[in-house]
Amino acid sequence: MSMVMPVIVGAGPAGVRAAQALAAQGLRPVILDEAPRAGGQIYRQPPPGFQRPKTALYGFEHRKADAVHRAMDALLPQVDYRPGTLVWNVEGKTLDVLQDGVSTAVPYTHLILATGATDRVLPFPGWLTPGVYTLGGSQVALKHQGCAIGARVAFMGTGPLLYLVAYQYAKAGAKVAAVLDTSRFADRLAALPGLLRAPGLLAKGLYYLAWLRAHGVPLRSGVRPVAVQGKERVTGLTYRQGVRTHAVDCDALAYGLALRSETQLASLAGCEFEYNTRDRNWAPRRDAAGRSSVPGVYVAGDGAAIAGADAAELAGERAALALLEDSNHRHDTVRARELEARLDANGRVRAALERAFPFPEDWARGIADDTVVCRCEEVTAGTLRQAVADTAAQEMNRLKALTRVGMGRCQGRMCGAAAAEVLAQACGRSPADVGRLRNQPPVKPVPVRVVCRERQEKAPS
Ligand SMILES: Cc1cc2nc3c(=O)[nH]c(=O)nc-3n(C[C@H](O)[C@H](O)[C@H](O)COP(=O)(O)OP(=O)(O)OC[C@H]3O[C@@H](n4cnc5c(N)ncnc54)[C@H](O)[C@@H]3O)c2cc1C
Repeated sequence: MSMVMPVIVGAGPAGVRAAQALAAQGLRPVILDEAPRAGGQIYRQPPPGFQRPKTALYGFEHRKADAVHRAMDALLPQVDYRPGTLVWNVEGKTLDVLQDGVSTAVPYTHLILATGATDRVLPFPGWLTPGVYTLGGSQVALKHQGCAIGARVAFMGTGPLLYLVAYQYAKAGAKVAAVLDTSRFADRLAALPGLLRAPGLLAKGLYYLAWLRAHGVPLRSGVRPVAVQGKERVTGLTYRQGVRTHAVDCDALAYGLALRSETQLASLAGCEFEYNTRDRNWAPRRDAAGRSSVPGVYVAGDGAAIAGADAAELAGERAALALLEDSNHRHDTVRARELEARLDANGRVRAALERAFPFPEDWARGIADDTVVCRCEEVTAGTLRQAVADTAAQEMNRLKALTRVGMGRCQGRMCGAAAAEVLAQACGRSPADVGRLRNQPPVKPVPVRVVCRERQEKAPS
């Protein structure tokens, strides 16, 4: 049996369960995660010494959080876990990683990418004003540091996270000025039969809604943003509901339109991508076990497709079983089938959630020409539209070459989805037809000296 050197990127629910399945068969995976502690996004842990109990941090999910944390603690003697380690490149079966300011190479024979997701944001007037955060970012502040982003916070966007984070803020003592949902009440009603497949999930959602309402938080549906008020700092928000414009007083705004998978490493590893209509996103093509188009590279969890934490645990384990099978190790085929069946059932619930909280397809049309879309390169919606009008550009990489959109520090992680929406709308095509930005290393900012040294070492002498 040839030597197997498995590497897992991500120590969230998917990465931890993948590691557990590999370690159970005597493999010793390397686990890389840029976060200082294991748990991923949902089960993110505060720094050591912080005193908030798990019941306060994770609410109804505190037992699951504890189970994932304990699983990781128990694994430590059997794995090579490197927290605080950013993977910034994949090239030739080697990862370039940055830890404590030093870049090293980590070779692998098999790679499980469990890189999770981040918020999808679309711009609107004032979205760059200090005090505007992504929804996930506002939750990170609370979960990791016990901080609120403001004293009177408005929440806007759509998806289950909207109500959850608003509830968590209110429970933690912040004043929630309003929860403004872009989806309509009728959307959620239409999704009800599908959501009944997951009564526990539905009950939690209804509880958050009822709690917020009972505590006097204004809940509005079918909303579109007009503008953030304030220059130095958010002082309020105006929004439209039907034909009327309303104002809400707040000193911070948390907003996000569901999540988008973190797929840059899969792209650099050479995986083929396909358009995921449900997630409105390009994602690595994969089989039911998580095998990508590149032999030895697997994708699991939200980094493969948005499916939530429970599905991430199942998908991480399933990908590890595929890795074991492909490297001629013992693997449990009955368990593999069971995991796939459960993932399948989860997919049906996800479809219902998407129906309940649909993406606001008209948003891109309403973005004013002077609104910045790409904040790294300060490219406005008007610049993108002008490029389309002048050159008949119909593809994302062409638009990038013409305007520099997505060429800055975030490499399109933040603005790529918005730029694709603006391009699709401007040229009258669907977001699936305009393609995706090709990824370049580094996938996240690293010091220039790190890249220079790396290139020197790789150059033939
Ligand atoms: C900010 C945020 C908050 C969320 N909060 C909730 C919540 O409260 N409740 C809920 O039900 N769902 C929540 N979700 C969704 C939920 O987190 C996911 O469904 C679930 O965590 C997916 O698990 P995962 O293992 O696939 O990925 P994650 O839990 O996201 O873990 C991925 C890990 O990969 C690491 N990583 C990514 N890229 C790199 C890289 N290049 N180098 C090194 N490490 C890397 C990250 O640091 C992270 O720890 C949240 C999502 C986000 C983005």
